[in-house]
Amino acid sequence: GAVRRKLIAANWKMHGLSDDLSWIDAFREALGEAHDRDILVCPPATLLAAFTKACRDVGIATGGQDCAAAQEGAYTGDISARMIADTGARYVIVGHSERRAGHDERDVHVRAKAAAALEAGLVPIVCVGETLEQREAGEAIAVVTNQLGASLPEAAGAQGVVIAYEPVWAIGTGRTPSPEDAEAMHRAIRKVFPGEGAMLRILYGGSVKPENAGDFLSRAEIDGALVGGASLDPEGFARIVNAVW
Ligand code: PEP
Repeated sequence: GAVRRKLIAANWKMHGLSDDLSWIDAFREALGEAHDRDILVCPPATLLAAFTKACRDVGIATGGQDCAAAQEGAYTGDISARMIADTGARYVIVGHSERRAGHDERDVHVRAKAAAALEAGLVPIVCVGETLEQREAGEAIAVVTNQLGASLPEAAGAQGVVIAYEPVWAIGTGRTPSPEDAEAMHRAIRKVFPGEGAMLRILYGGSVKPENAGDFLSRAEIDGALVGGASLDPEGFARIVNAVW
């Protein structure tokens, strides 16, 4: 088998009400036979406990979309990594570009959140990615590897974290880099973990759809996908998961 099992992750963003727990059965029905890969769903925080309970024993892991840097305290409205772990969820996304842009999260905050996730026993999915301007200036690899270096806590080993490479210009836009450009970035990211890069799972994210999933997931350097919009449709997400061969 492969050194790194592919991981297909759904990021529901701010979508989903209690009725949408029916997604789970529809997805499983569309999925068919089990293949050798990991499946993760990150629903909104309001659904996380119910979703995690419903996914227990059916081979779907769950995760949060963000966590606080602190584990408890006077932080009205925030949700800690320990609270996410307490639901039975195993992962948490940190540093998504929508948090970096919309909530002014910087690398230093992302690093603190990733550290809190590790402390709570969660696997942080650390998101990085360049803007279109940075790519067009030829700076994409330097920007992303610097961002990653500054967003990773000291304690982060290649086996305890997942990295999501999500070019900002590809998220929700229908545009994607070529699989070759994504692979080149993944190769550069792997070098940020000297000596253990072979263990690191790096997901590609940004406008992954059933139609293009195989182009990315068939690449040796690409260990999975982080899927936003297309993950809300259970049949479409099943097709993306089944693009792993
Ligand atoms: C994301 O939110 O992580 C993402 C990649 O979104 P989309 O698939 O909609 O581009």
